Amino acid sequence: MGLLDGKVALITGAARGIGKAIALKFASEGADIAFTDLALNETTDNTLKEIEAFGVKARAYASNAADYEQTHEVVKEIMAEFGHIDVLVNNAGITKDGLMMRMNEQQWDAVLTVNLKSAFNFIHACTPVMAKQRGGSIINMSSVVGVSGNAGQCNYSASKAGLIGLAKSIAKEMGPRGIRANCIAPGFIITDMTNALPENVREEWAKQIPLRRGGTPEDVANVALFLASDLSSYVSGQVIHCCGAMNC
Ligand code: NAD
Repeated sequence: MGLLDGKVALITGAARGIGKAIALKFASEGADIAFTDLALNETTDNTLKEIEAFGVKARAYASNAADYEQTHEVVKEIMAEFGHIDVLVNNAGITKDGLMMRMNEQQWDAVLTVNLKSAFNFIHACTPVMAKQRGGSIINMSSVVGVSGNAGQCNYSASKAGLIGLAKSIAKEMGPRGIRANCIAPGFIITDMTNALPENVREEWAKQIPLRRGGTPEDVANVALFLASDLSSYVSGQVIHCCGAMNC
Protein backbone atom coordinates (compact mmCIF):
# COMPACT_ATOMS: atom_id res chain seq x y z
CA MET A 1 0.00 0.00 0.00
CA GLY A 2 1.38 3.38 -1.03
CA LEU A 3 0.47 6.67 0.61
CA LEU A 4 -0.83 7.98 -2.74
CA ASP A 5 -2.46 4.87 -4.21
CA GLY A 6 -5.26 5.81 -6.62
CA LYS A 7 -4.32 9.49 -6.72
CA VAL A 8 -3.32 11.55 -9.76
CA ALA A 9 -0.66 14.21 -9.22
CA LEU A 10 0.05 17.09 -11.57
CA ILE A 11 3.50 18.61 -11.13
CA THR A 12 4.73 21.63 -13.09
CA GLY A 13 8.34 22.03 -14.25
CA ALA A 14 9.18 18.45 -13.32
CA ALA A 15 11.63 17.44 -16.04
CA ARG A 16 14.49 17.84 -13.56
CA GLY A 17 15.46 19.04 -10.09
CA ILE A 18 12.97 19.29 -7.25
CA GLY A 19 9.93 18.70 -9.48
CA LYS A 20 11.40 15.48 -10.81
CA ALA A 21 12.25 14.27 -7.30
CA ILE A 22 8.65 14.94 -6.27
CA ALA A 23 7.31 13.06 -9.29
CA LEU A 24 9.50 10.05 -8.46
CA LYS A 25 8.60 10.14 -4.78
CA PHE A 26 4.87 10.34 -5.53
CA ALA A 27 5.16 7.51 -8.09
CA SER A 28 6.99 5.37 -5.54
CA GLU A 29 3.93 5.81 -3.29
CA GLY A 30 1.49 4.74 -6.01
CA ALA A 31 0.37 8.02 -7.64
CA ASP A 32 -0.18 8.34 -11.37
CA ILE A 33 1.83 11.30 -12.63
CA ALA A 34 1.10 14.06 -15.14
CA PHE A 35 3.97 16.49 -15.37
CA THR A 36 4.70 19.56 -17.44
CA ASP A 37 7.81 21.33 -18.62
CA LEU A 38 8.63 23.87 -21.29
CA ALA A 39 9.40 21.28 -23.99
CA LEU A 40 9.36 17.56 -24.57
CA ASN A 41 12.89 16.32 -25.13
CA GLU A 42 15.44 13.72 -24.00
CA THR A 43 15.30 15.02 -20.43
CA THR A 44 11.51 14.69 -20.17
CA ASP A 45 11.70 11.26 -21.87
CA ASN A 46 14.21 10.03 -19.30
CA THR A 47 12.16 11.42 -16.41
CA LEU A 48 9.06 9.74 -17.80
CA LYS A 49 10.87 6.39 -17.98
CA GLU A 50 12.11 6.71 -14.40
CA ILE A 51 8.57 7.46 -13.20
CA GLU A 52 7.06 4.58 -15.19
CA ALA A 53 9.58 2.19 -13.63
CA PHE A 54 7.43 2.41 -10.47
CA GLY A 55 4.58 0.77 -12.42
CA VAL A 56 2.32 3.82 -12.44
CA LYS A 57 0.76 5.67 -15.36
CA ALA A 58 2.71 8.76 -16.39
CA ARG A 59 2.50 11.41 -19.12
CA ALA A 60 4.67 14.44 -19.88
CA TYR A 61 3.16 17.60 -21.36
CA ALA A 62 4.91 20.54 -23.03
CA SER A 63 3.35 23.62 -21.51
CA ASN A 64 4.53 27.05 -20.47
CA ALA A 65 3.13 27.40 -16.96
CA ALA A 66 3.14 31.18 -17.35
CA ASP A 67 0.66 31.00 -20.22
CA TYR A 68 -2.98 31.12 -19.08
CA GLU A 69 -4.47 29.53 -22.23
CA GLN A 70 -1.87 26.76 -22.47
CA THR A 71 -2.33 25.93 -18.81
CA HIS A 72 -6.10 25.57 -19.10
CA GLU A 73 -5.66 23.49 -22.28
CA VAL A 74 -3.16 21.13 -20.64
CA VAL A 75 -5.40 20.62 -17.61
CA LYS A 76 -8.22 19.64 -20.00
CA GLU A 77 -5.89 17.14 -21.71
CA ILE A 78 -4.83 15.70 -18.35
CA MET A 79 -8.46 15.31 -17.27
CA ALA A 80 -9.27 13.53 -20.53
CA GLU A 81 -6.35 11.14 -19.97
CA PHE A 82 -6.48 10.60 -16.19
CA GLY A 83 -10.09 11.47 -15.21
CA HIS A 84 -9.17 13.29 -12.00
CA ILE A 85 -6.49 15.48 -10.42
CA ASP A 86 -5.95 15.03 -6.69
CA VAL A 87 -2.65 16.80 -6.13
CA LEU A 88 -1.29 19.91 -7.83
CA VAL A 89 2.31 20.94 -7.24
CA ASN A 90 3.13 24.41 -8.56
CA ASN A 91 6.85 23.85 -8.86
CA ALA A 92 7.96 25.59 -12.10
CA GLY A 93 10.20 28.50 -11.30
CA ILE A 94 13.09 30.64 -12.52
CA THR A 95 15.50 33.25 -11.19
CA LYS A 96 16.68 36.44 -12.85
CA ASP A 97 18.68 37.96 -10.03
CA GLY A 98 19.96 41.51 -9.73
CA LEU A 99 20.01 44.39 -7.31
CA MET A 100 16.91 46.59 -7.45
CA MET A 101 18.89 49.56 -8.83
CA ARG A 102 19.94 47.46 -11.82
CA MET A 103 16.87 45.30 -12.27
CA ASN A 104 14.95 45.92 -15.44
CA GLU A 105 11.25 45.49 -16.10
CA GLN A 106 11.81 42.32 -18.14
CA GLN A 107 13.57 40.60 -15.21
CA TRP A 108 10.74 41.57 -12.87
CA ASP A 109 7.94 40.52 -15.25
CA ALA A 110 9.54 37.22 -16.26
CA VAL A 111 10.05 36.04 -12.68
CA LEU A 112 6.66 37.18 -11.43
CA THR A 113 4.92 35.60 -14.41
CA VAL A 114 6.71 32.25 -14.38
CA ASN A 115 6.79 31.85 -10.60
CA LEU A 116 3.54 33.42 -9.42
CA LYS A 117 1.07 33.84 -12.27
CA SER A 118 1.76 30.23 -13.25
CA ALA A 119 0.37 29.08 -9.89
CA PHE A 120 -2.72 31.23 -10.41
CA ASN A 121 -3.12 29.66 -13.88
CA PHE A 122 -2.96 26.08 -12.61
CA ILE A 123 -5.00 26.68 -9.47
CA HIS A 124 -7.63 28.44 -11.59
CA ALA A 125 -7.76 25.49 -13.98
CA CYS A 126 -7.64 22.74 -11.32
CA THR A 127 -9.86 24.00 -8.50
CA PRO A 128 -13.15 23.46 -10.40
CA VAL A 129 -12.04 19.83 -10.88
CA MET A 130 -11.02 19.45 -7.24
CA ALA A 131 -14.20 21.16 -6.02
CA LYS A 132 -16.31 18.66 -7.98
CA GLN A 133 -14.27 15.82 -6.46
CA ARG A 134 -14.70 17.48 -3.06
CA GLY A 135 -11.01 17.09 -2.35
CA GLY A 136 -7.52 18.02 -3.44
CA SER A 137 -4.14 19.11 -2.19
CA ILE A 138 -2.34 22.10 -3.68
CA ILE A 139 1.34 22.65 -2.95
CA ASN A 140 3.08 25.86 -3.98
CA MET A 141 6.87 25.75 -4.14
CA SER A 142 7.84 28.92 -2.30
CA SER A 143 11.28 29.59 -0.80
CA VAL A 144 12.82 30.74 2.46
CA VAL A 145 13.55 34.05 0.73
CA GLY A 146 9.80 34.51 0.22
CA VAL A 147 9.63 34.80 4.00
CA SER A 148 12.92 36.53 4.78
CA GLY A 149 13.68 38.49 1.60
CA ASN A 150 17.11 38.42 -0.03
CA ALA A 151 19.35 41.13 -1.41
CA GLY A 152 19.64 40.72 -5.17
CA GLN A 153 16.42 38.74 -5.44
CA CYS A 154 13.61 41.25 -4.97
CA ASN A 155 11.69 39.82 -7.93
CA TYR A 156 12.18 36.18 -6.88
CA SER A 157 11.45 36.90 -3.19
CA ALA A 158 8.29 38.83 -4.10
CA SER A 159 7.09 35.98 -6.32
CA LYS A 160 7.75 33.42 -3.58
CA ALA A 161 6.01 35.59 -0.95
CA GLY A 162 3.09 35.91 -3.37
CA LEU A 163 2.82 32.11 -3.54
CA ILE A 164 2.37 32.05 0.24
CA GLY A 165 -0.44 34.63 0.14
CA LEU A 166 -2.02 32.71 -2.71
CA ALA A 167 -1.93 29.37 -0.86
CA LYS A 168 -3.27 30.87 2.37
CA SER A 169 -6.15 32.54 0.51
CA ILE A 170 -7.03 29.37 -1.40
CA ALA A 171 -6.91 27.41 1.87
CA LYS A 172 -9.57 29.75 3.28
CA GLU A 173 -11.65 30.06 0.13
CA MET A 174 -11.65 26.40 -0.90
CA GLY A 175 -11.39 24.67 2.49
CA PRO A 176 -15.17 24.17 2.63
CA ARG A 177 -14.84 22.20 -0.65
CA GLY A 178 -12.25 19.87 0.87
CA ILE A 179 -9.30 21.51 -0.88
CA ARG A 180 -6.12 22.08 1.11
CA ALA A 181 -3.36 24.48 0.02
CA ASN A 182 0.11 24.74 1.52
CA CYS A 183 3.59 25.93 0.67
CA ILE A 184 7.02 24.44 0.96
CA ALA A 185 9.82 26.91 1.59
CA PRO A 186 13.06 25.19 0.60
CA GLY A 187 16.36 26.69 1.62
CA PHE A 188 19.52 25.95 -0.34
CA ILE A 189 18.79 22.83 -2.38
CA ILE A 190 21.43 21.39 -4.69
CA THR A 191 19.96 21.45 -8.22
CA ASP A 192 20.82 22.94 -11.62
CA MET A 193 19.24 26.20 -10.39
CA THR A 194 21.70 26.58 -7.50
CA ASN A 195 24.63 25.03 -9.37
CA ALA A 196 24.32 27.99 -11.76
CA LEU A 197 25.32 30.36 -8.92
CA PRO A 198 28.98 31.43 -8.63
CA GLU A 199 31.01 29.22 -6.25
CA ASN A 200 31.60 32.03 -3.73
CA VAL A 201 27.84 32.67 -3.48
CA ARG A 202 27.19 28.95 -2.94
CA GLU A 203 29.89 28.84 -0.24
CA GLU A 204 28.32 31.84 1.52
CA TRP A 205 24.91 30.12 1.54
CA ALA A 206 26.42 26.87 2.85
CA LYS A 207 27.99 28.70 5.82
CA GLN A 208 24.53 29.85 6.93
CA ILE A 209 23.12 26.31 7.23
CA PRO A 210 23.18 24.90 10.78
CA LEU A 211 22.78 21.33 9.46
CA ARG A 212 26.01 21.96 7.50
CA ARG A 213 24.85 20.73 4.13
CA GLY A 214 22.77 21.82 1.20
CA GLY A 215 19.42 20.10 0.90
CA THR A 216 18.70 17.47 -1.72
CA PRO A 217 15.66 17.43 -4.02
CA GLU A 218 14.60 14.28 -2.11
CA ASP A 219 14.54 16.27 1.16
CA VAL A 220 11.95 18.56 -0.42
CA ALA A 221 10.08 15.65 -2.04
CA ASN A 222 9.57 14.06 1.40
CA VAL A 223 7.82 17.22 2.61
CA ALA A 224 5.74 17.28 -0.58
CA LEU A 225 4.72 13.67 0.04
CA PHE A 226 3.45 14.58 3.51
CA LEU A 227 1.46 17.52 2.14
CA ALA A 228 0.06 15.51 -0.78
CA SER A 229 -1.03 12.55 1.32
CA ASP A 230 -3.75 12.07 3.90
CA LEU A 231 -1.05 12.23 6.59
CA SER A 232 -1.60 16.01 6.38
CA SER A 233 -5.40 15.88 6.15
CA TYR A 234 -5.79 18.65 8.78
CA VAL A 235 -2.89 20.81 7.53
CA SER A 236 -3.84 23.72 5.28
CA GLY A 237 -2.72 27.31 4.79
CA GLN A 238 0.76 26.50 6.13
CA VAL A 239 4.34 27.06 5.05
CA ILE A 240 6.72 24.21 5.83
CA HIS A 241 10.36 25.22 5.72
CA CYS A 242 12.83 22.65 4.44
CA CYS A 243 16.10 24.47 4.99
CA GLY A 244 18.36 22.76 7.53
CA ALA A 245 17.41 25.49 10.05
CA MET A 246 18.96 28.13 7.77
CA ASN A 247 16.11 30.60 8.13
CA CYS A 248 14.27 29.65 11.25
P1 NAD B 1 15.43 23.78 -11.86
O1 NAD B 1 15.82 24.99 -12.65
O2 NAD B 1 16.41 22.68 -11.70
O3 NAD B 1 14.08 23.16 -12.44
C1 NAD B 1 12.99 23.98 -12.78
C2 NAD B 1 12.18 23.30 -13.87
O4 NAD B 1 11.09 24.18 -14.20
C3 NAD B 1 12.99 23.08 -15.15
O5 NAD B 1 12.77 21.77 -15.64
C4 NAD B 1 12.43 24.15 -16.11
O6 NAD B 1 12.50 23.78 -17.47
C5 NAD B 1 11.00 24.25 -15.61
N1 NAD B 1 10.38 25.51 -16.00
C6 NAD B 1 10.93 26.75 -15.96
N2 NAD B 1 10.06 27.66 -16.45
C7 NAD B 1 8.93 26.97 -16.78
C8 NAD B 1 7.69 27.35 -17.33
N3 NAD B 1 7.43 28.62 -17.65
N4 NAD B 1 6.77 26.40 -17.56
C9 NAD B 1 7.02 25.10 -17.25
N5 NAD B 1 8.19 24.68 -16.73
C10 NAD B 1 9.13 25.61 -16.50
O7 NAD B 1 14.96 24.35 -10.44
P2 NAD B 1 14.80 23.63 -9.03
O8 NAD B 1 15.96 24.01 -8.20
O9 NAD B 1 14.42 22.21 -9.19
O10 NAD B 1 13.56 24.48 -8.45
C11 NAD B 1 12.22 24.01 -8.50
C12 NAD B 1 11.36 24.99 -7.72
O11 NAD B 1 11.85 25.09 -6.37
C13 NAD B 1 11.38 26.43 -8.27
O12 NAD B 1 10.12 27.01 -8.12
C14 NAD B 1 12.38 27.11 -7.37
O13 NAD B 1 12.16 28.50 -7.30
C15 NAD B 1 12.08 26.43 -6.05
N6 NAD B 1 13.18 26.53 -5.08
C16 NAD B 1 14.40 26.01 -5.38
C17 NAD B 1 15.43 26.13 -4.44
C18 NAD B 1 16.80 25.59 -4.67
O14 NAD B 1 17.68 25.85 -3.83
N7 NAD B 1 17.05 24.84 -5.73
C19 NAD B 1 15.18 26.80 -3.22
C20 NAD B 1 13.92 27.31 -2.98
C21 NAD B 1 12.93 27.17 -3.92
